[in-house]
Amino acid sequence: MARYKESVCRLCRREGVKLYLKGDRCYTDKCGVVKRAYAPGQHGQRRKKPSEYGLQLREKQKARRFYGILEKQFRNYFYEADRQKGITGENLVRLLERRLDNVIYRLGLAGSRPEARQLVRHGHVTVNNKKVDIPSYLLKVGDEVAIKEKSTSSPKFKEIAEAAMHKSSPPWLEADKENLRGRVVAMPSREDIDVPLEEHLIVELYSR
Ligand code: SF4
Repeated sequence: MARYKESVCRLCRREGVKLYLKGDRCYTDKCGVVKRAYAPGQHGQRRKKPSEYGLQLREKQKARRFYGILEKQFRNYFYEADRQKGITGENLVRLLERRLDNVIYRLGLAGSRPEARQLVRHGHVTVNNKKVDIPSYLLKVGDEVAIKEKSTSSPKFKEIAEAAMHKSSPPWLEADKENLRGRVVAMPSREDIDVPLEEHLIVELYSR
């Protein structure tokens, strides 16, 4: 993803929800959304009723920022979701959930999605025992994800393993936190995905 140089907390404040981009800090009182519950910038505290288009646009931006995806790639996910059978909005969220960086985060092997993306990019992650350094890699049922054996001995990963023990994983993933591994045991259903999105608004936006 292109580098965003300002504080990522501004992104959460803009969307009015926690996007959990900073790991443990997001669960404390230091969270930007807790401290300043209004949009950033000079006019952030002015409330204006958003238009229908404004609502749709914000929902799309929120989804992009949750998963850390650029506009063009996000649009491609939408086209793919639209091609699939079923409800386009749900297909879209399920596709996003199956990204390798998201799965690493969901397994508790990283404190945030940005951290998970960095672990993947830096070559610490394997899928079915082969190194994969593409954060957008889409996992399927039966795929095994792990932190590379060589990496697990570093103090950083010992810390990650310890923190992972206190985190829960969604039912479509089977986590072996002690060994920093996990497996996709089912396709995620919409109910399993706790991301507060109204995906129908995104579908409406792209269907204009
Ligand atoms: Fe968002 Fe986390 Fe910053 Fe809170 S601390 S505003 S959840 S990135």
